[in-house]
Amino acid sequence: QENLLEVKHLRTEFFSSKKSSVTAVDDVSFDIKKGEIVGLVGESGCGKSVTSLSIMQLLKDTPGKITNGEVIFQGHNLLDASKKEMLDIRGDKMSMIFQEPMSSLNPSMRIDKQMIEGIRLHTPLTKAEARKKAADILSQVGIPDPQRVLKNYPHQLSGGMSQRVMIAMAMSCEPDLLIADEPTTALDVTIQAQILELMKKIQQDKGMSILLITHDLGVVAEMCSRVIVMYAGKIVEEAPVEILFANPTHPYTQGLIASVPKLGSGVKVLPSIPGSVPDLSAMPKGCRFAPRCKYATEKCHQEQPELLSVGEKQKCRCWLKH
Ligand code: SF4
Ligand code: MG
Repeated sequence: QENLLEVKHLRTEFFSSKKSSVTAVDDVSFDIKKGEIVGLVGESGCGKSVTSLSIMQLLKDTPGKITNGEVIFQGHNLLDASKKEMLDIRGDKMSMIFQEPMSSLNPSMRIDKQMIEGIRLHTPLTKAEARKKAADILSQVGIPDPQRVLKNYPHQLSGGMSQRVMIAMAMSCEPDLLIADEPTTALDVTIQAQILELMKKIQQDKGMSILLITHDLGVVAEMCSRVIVMYAGKIVEEAPVEILFANPTHPYTQGLIASVPKLGSGVKVLPSIPGSVPDLSAMPKGCRFAPRCKYATEKCHQEQPELLSVGEKQKCRCWLKH
């Protein structure tokens, strides 16, 4: 199957001065096929959001800079694209849903105007048809009174409501690739389920690909066909979803899975991974997970393992496996 996106040896550094930087995304490579939903998981601070901002070329408001690698989207390296080309791609072929809805809504424009303009950029619909489509999508993301919301400005909406409007806007242009960064974290479970359902439906109807960034493995199990696990700026494991849950090979993945609450198990205190993600400016010399890993040996503290195949479709970065 055809690759829609290929990320190759991506490195993103954050510069505090010309000479001093820390590496937030370190030699990350993966691909997304057409119509596939890939989960990108890991605790916060592991580089998931920076990876997605790097793909979208949206690092400009940060001290971050891509210093190596390629981002091949539909056969073109986005790192060579001009600002204008990137604007076109982002408005049409790739959309992103952020944790923070206000960053993608225009505060000075009513919702109807923003949505209708967006829809008409990508479809031959008339204004009236686009307005109807906007109302439809708003009701699909669980907004009870779309006509009222359409007349509002963003500041008139509650946080949860603006989150849903942003999701509706991203879906309305039917992008080839949707990057969703913790899209439903702030919403209650019912709305969350509705929105995930909707994303899945659009993905199936339109063959959209989704990169779903989340720390919620329940969402991953529900939505994704393949999972990439990141730790401290690097990919540590990659596998099809069933394989990852049945046979997680990296101790970090094992810890994440062990922390998922099991429904009806009566377990209230969850085993979580002790310690925390290392600071970017103080990365361990060997395996980055070594300070938290119960299997760590002297070699783990000294030398970095590579990401290598451990099965037909599974990759793992751990000395225990090779
Ligand atoms: Fe743990 Fe060593 Fe594997 Fe790192 S390489 S995850 S420290 S066993
Ligand atoms: Mg994040």
